[in-house]
Amino acid sequence: NNNHNQRTTRTLGSQTGRVPVGIGRRRLRIVVTGGAGFVGSHLVDKLIDRGDEVIVIDNFFTGRKNNVVHHFGNPRFELIRHDVVEPILLEVDQIYHLACPASPVHYKYNPVKTIKTNVMGTLNMLGLAKRVGARFLLTSTSEVYGDPLEHPQKETYWGNVNPIGERSCYDEGKRTAETLAMDYHRGADVEVRIARIFNTYGPRMCLDDGRVVSNFVAQAIRKLPMTVYGDGKQTRSFQYVSDLVNGLVALMEGEHVGPFNLGNPGEFSMLELAEVVKEVIDSSATIEFRANTADDPHMRKPDISKAKELLNWEPKISLREGLPHMVSDFQNRILNEDEGKQA
Ligand code: NAD
Ligand code: UDP
Ligand code: UDP
Repeated sequence: NNNHNQRTTRTLGSQTGRVPVGIGRRRLRIVVTGGAGFVGSHLVDKLIDRGDEVIVIDNFFTGRKNNVVHHFGNPRFELIRHDVVEPILLEVDQIYHLACPASPVHYKYNPVKTIKTNVMGTLNMLGLAKRVGARFLLTSTSEVYGDPLEHPQKETYWGNVNPIGERSCYDEGKRTAETLAMDYHRGADVEVRIARIFNTYGPRMCLDDGRVVSNFVAQAIRKLPMTVYGDGKQTRSFQYVSDLVNGLVALMEGEHVGPFNLGNPGEFSMLELAEVVKEVIDSSATIEFRANTADDPHMRKPDISKAKELLNWEPKISLREGLPHMVSDFQNRILNEDEGKQA
């Protein structure tokens, strides 16, 4: 089995006539599932920039062609409209498996579909990795820790997850995806990598995905009150998207399976976040309290010592540095939307 895998990978380069990139490294062919989404499209930019071939698989549930349109016409880029719940045959060296709605509003919209995406989608991508001997990276989530009883969260913590709640399709779906990845690793020698991603923000997030950073930023730009759920004292740690993308690539290229927490340890309550958004966008912005959603984790902050030590990775961009980049992207898109309405 192992021999078969090695043989497949070795011959790929010559079959496709790919030329070496830089010194000592040949060009790779890489699949990014969910590559038309927020994180995926930034990852695609990085992989294309460094000279590799990228195939994006996306069903456009939350992703948009606009996020990758700047690569159309590049012979090293390919976009396939495909649902990962269905099998697919490709010849590739690496698989970054991101396909899955990430915002609570999106993943609760059709919870059974979210589970199918996490379980059958991940199974198909692992089956593909096994067949062609590709390395496989899963984008899991800090949600596997549930409403954590340990703070900050280390990778050794097993979590506190409600198996029958509204968030379970996502939390338990990702936990099963991690299990599948480890079983293919142990049972079929697939080279797997597991990232547990903490709340990430940046340009190209969906304007109305209901996540807290996108909500506050869009609300402040539109001169609407920022909606704080519950008492606003719950905390999250916000990572800028380029830091995450660097972490994902370091994990894929490194020798460690993980899981690794990838997040920014800077912790903010929702009330503090609203203050930062006020500072950056509009000092006259107001807040409005709303009822919180079910099973909302009270606090979340990554312990990133493992990624620091083994991947030599840590985030570089603070919330106050990263937020303005997202704000200018949102301002442009909201302006275009308004002009579209008037036209
Ligand atoms: P996103 O919603 O912007 O991107 C997800 C992409 O997957 C979209 O392009 C969507 O159309 C596609 N997709 C969904 N279901 C699919 C299916 N069945 N077949 C094919 N494509 C499908 O979300 P994101 O923030 O970019 O998240 C990317 C990944 O990172 C997800 O797996 C998510 O769980 C994980 N993650 C993100 C965060 C975060 O804060 N952004 C935190 C933890 C984990
Ligand atoms: N699969 C796929 N592409 C491939 C290889 C497999 O989509 O190139 C799918 C396959 O259809 C199956 C899943 O991945 O549903 C798991 O494949 P595996 O070979 O591990 O298991 P089996 O097919 O024996 O159930
Ligand atoms: N939240 C909020 N206002 C909003 C959207 C979310 O106060 O308009 C809160 C939400 O209750 C949660 C936190 O912000 O405590 C983060 O929510 P998000 O949906 O961004 O991510 P997740 O819950 O998955 O961490």
